[in-house]
Amino acid sequence: MFRSLHMKLVLIMLLLITSLMTVVGAFMMTSITSFYIDEFYQQVESVFGDSNPVNGAFVNDLRREAAQSGGLQVLQQMVETKAGDLGLNSNTRNYYILDGRTGAFLAGSDGESAFNSLPTTQNLLTARASIANGDSEVGDHSDVTANYMDVAIPITGGENAYIIYIYDNRDTVNSLNGQLFLIIVQALLVGLLISLLLSFLLSKTMIIPIERLTEGADRVAAGDFGKVIEVESSDEIGVLTTTFNDMAAVLRDTLEEVENERSKLDTLFLHMTDGVISFASDGSILTSNPAASQMLGREVSFYDYDALFGKELPFQQVMSLQRPDFVSRELTVGVRILELYLAPVSDGKDGGAMAVMHDITAQRKNEEMRKEFVANVSHELRTPLTNVRSYAETIRTTPDIPREMEEGFLDVIISEADRMTHIVQDLLTLSRLDSGRAEIKMARFPLLDAIDSVCRAVELEAQRRGHTLLRQYGGALPMIEGDRDRLEQVMMNVVGNAIKYTPDGGTIAVDAGMRGRKVWITVSDNGIGIPQQDRERIFDRFYRVDKARSRESGGTGLGLSIAREIVMRHHGAIALAPHEGPGTTIRISLPIRQREEARHD
Ligand code: ADP
Repeated sequence: MFRSLHMKLVLIMLLLITSLMTVVGAFMMTSITSFYIDEFYQQVESVFGDSNPVNGAFVNDLRREAAQSGGLQVLQQMVETKAGDLGLNSNTRNYYILDGRTGAFLAGSDGESAFNSLPTTQNLLTARASIANGDSEVGDHSDVTANYMDVAIPITGGENAYIIYIYDNRDTVNSLNGQLFLIIVQALLVGLLISLLLSFLLSKTMIIPIERLTEGADRVAAGDFGKVIEVESSDEIGVLTTTFNDMAAVLRDTLEEVENERSKLDTLFLHMTDGVISFASDGSILTSNPAASQMLGREVSFYDYDALFGKELPFQQVMSLQRPDFVSRELTVGVRILELYLAPVSDGKDGGAMAVMHDITAQRKNEEMRKEFVANVSHELRTPLTNVRSYAETIRTTPDIPREMEEGFLDVIISEADRMTHIVQDLLTLSRLDSGRAEIKMARFPLLDAIDSVCRAVELEAQRRGHTLLRQYGGALPMIEGDRDRLEQVMMNVVGNAIKYTPDGGTIAVDAGMRGRKVWITVSDNGIGIPQQDRERIFDRFYRVDKARSRESGGTGLGLSIAREIVMRHHGAIALAPHEGPGTTIRISLPIRQREEARHD
């Protein structure tokens, strides 16, 4: 309850007023008492003289009378004549004439019993002691805190010794102080009331803006930046409120920016093709993206660093690296080859680490293919070149070479040169198709005509080999869109292969048809067929099941690769179809209209 600023303020005000009034009251009451005491002693002095021991004229008169027998009555009369000067009054201030040696009551303005009820004060003892010593020292000390004040004046005359004792019970000053106390208490109550009101007023001007500021800070802490706190004054709290509003605005903008950046990063993180995993300083996984799980072939969030990469590099070694240092390793996971980068997140020990994985399978495959391709090209060209060179050298170093032999050698040289030209031409065609430089002239043409012209072109060769060429396609083939020359080149290659790879006297069947928006062409033979393990690769460049046989028949190993490229440029497909019995079936499918297909690209 007393924790709130409001209550503290009220409490401070109350304490302040109470302590102020207490101090003022105490000061005033003490001052009044002191004044009363001073006044009392001044009155005594004015009558008895101010030197101690007293030696005034009145005292001397008293002493003289005291020496007389029966002087007591005279003394009493003399003191009573001074009653007005001494301020004697029966209620509060009385005088007593006492026996100077015994201190016994002899006469007084109040009765003996009243005297006997008084305390034996220090002043009385002083006066009695001074009489016993033959002095005349007055007992005139009074304590502010005592509830009386008194003065004891020794009067010795001859053998007689008296003490004139004046005793004041301070009733006057006490009742005055009592009234003052009442006034102070009333003033205190009024003061407290005023301070209460004041503290409420203060709370209105000070605490309410602070409370508003606190509410605003709570809202900001909860992420609500919608409301601006009203600035109602230009004092320090007003300035603080303005600064707070500015700070909240800057914070909101910064948070928005951070949030934007974060969502950008999240999206990037989620969709990036590289796998990313971040680890805490103990090696447990903090975050990972789907690509990481995909690459490693398991849900990485179930594992930790040691289980994933512990074998590649101990976690402590990664953590001991200094940024921007990193370590890279090559990982093989199933058929994938991954390049793994490991780096610490910060230089401190608490920062954790980061693993980034890059799938280089395709890159490696391309590199392998390129190497293989270059090796293949070199090999394919070196063989005919070696032949050309050795035959040419033989002709040159053998001066008397028989004419027919020389002719034969020259034929080989020419045919090898043709072969090389053929290879180079095929490579050029492939390179143009690869780079997109090969122009495909799209036009509508009747498919039936194209297949017919291919069949006619190979008819002679088929006959020469004793093959039966079956044209199984009917007459209902549509006009299709495409580059007729190139598609005829594809069909020629496929039918040519069927003729080449079928032992003499075989059967080659060409069929075609239409299904939906596509046409299909199949070329089947009952030849040597393609072994299961080679079926996947026959469309690869330079791939040949039987190199010697292919070369013998003038093949380059590039025909089907070129065919596949051309068919793909027509948005079609070429593949080995399932085949029953010995032989091979190649199936080509092409869209009837190119534009619709191109739109789906
Ligand atoms: P090539 O110039 O060697 O014929 P291709 O690319 O046309 O090259 O064919 C690749 C390989 O596929 C051939 O070397 C051959 O081994 C195999 N092949 C293609 N067609 C047939 C077929 N009809 N029957 C058997 N093997 C075939």
